[in-house]
Amino acid sequence: MHLARFPRVRLFPAPTPLEKLTNLTRHLGGPDIWIKRDDCTVVATGGNKVRKLEWLVGEAQAQGATHLVTQGAVQSNHVRQTAAVARRLGMKCTALLEHRIETNDRDYLNSGNVLLDRLFDCAIEYRPSGLDMNAEAEAKGTAMSSAGEKTYVIPGGGSNRVGALGYVSCAQELLQQADEMGLQIGRVVTATGSAGTQAGLVVGLEGSNAGIPVLGIGVRAPKDRQETNVHRLAEETADYVGARGGVSRAAVVANCDYVGPGYGQPTPGMTEAVLMLARLEGVLLDPVYSGKAMAGLIDLIRKGEFRRGETVVFLHTGGAVGLFGYAGVFEQAMTH
Ligand SMILES: *Cc1c(COP(=O)(O)O)cnc(C)c1O
Repeated sequence: MHLARFPRVRLFPAPTPLEKLTNLTRHLGGPDIWIKRDDCTVVATGGNKVRKLEWLVGEAQAQGATHLVTQGAVQSNHVRQTAAVARRLGMKCTALLEHRIETNDRDYLNSGNVLLDRLFDCAIEYRPSGLDMNAEAEAKGTAMSSAGEKTYVIPGGGSNRVGALGYVSCAQELLQQADEMGLQIGRVVTATGSAGTQAGLVVGLEGSNAGIPVLGIGVRAPKDRQETNVHRLAEETADYVGARGGVSRAAVVANCDYVGPGYGQPTPGMTEAVLMLARLEGVLLDPVYSGKAMAGLIDLIRKGEFRRGETVVFLHTGGAVGLFGYAGVFEQAMTH
């Protein structure tokens, strides 16, 4: 796979750190837990979308676009990172925010990511829940280009074959890091939502014959649908990069047992995981993605699903800004 064939805008210094979580490893008494710090991708407090945006904005600029159009939930990390990248590159950004969660919570509606969207002067339009938001973004982009804007529409989460290149590249980066450190990785664990992160990782690892399975912990869809979405995007991405043989369906594994009541709805496991990582490691997870993914990892370790001495790499996909949208949840958790 020769990624230099695709346009790219460099946005952060690579590699992101790969660190051992010594205290968490000792606390749980299971596998060696390492963390790949993709919360450290620099732009606007970082996160996994910056990696995808290197390639998406690369293509946007190659097409002469000056205005990014995208969509997400009100507390979307993806929208916040897109809005910031647009500013850094002298572009404009319009975002459609879906009221995916029914709430009147002031913090959820005004703080965290959406506060930063406003600081970046992103043009925001709201939508009720349940619409096809990618279709809404496409329609908005079409209307704006009819009005003379040079738009480039980015799907939710930056998850298409172009954005997924960011995680094909991350897989290559991780393998090189592990080789240099002499670290034998047994499994990679990541949150999986709009699918681009897991799809890209699977294509990158499979394409290198690394023999490292990826476990996605779902945050929204049930297992069948999540795996189907990830596999479809992995196949498209493999085709795009010219990885021969495609991606086997068996290489795509998602565990969706940790979603709880729904997308963005807090769970006791999530609050436990956020507090545990904060207090044992000084690491900030997020309430919607990495907190639930870590809740899954902790539970699976407690159930003995990993060997002692096996190395698990947890991909930290960022999102800590979202904590401020859920302040009440953590205030309550800390008084009980
Ligand atoms: C978007 C996001 C994810 C999920 O990544 P996908 O590529 O959408 O599956 C995980 N963690 C955080 C913090 C995110 O913002």
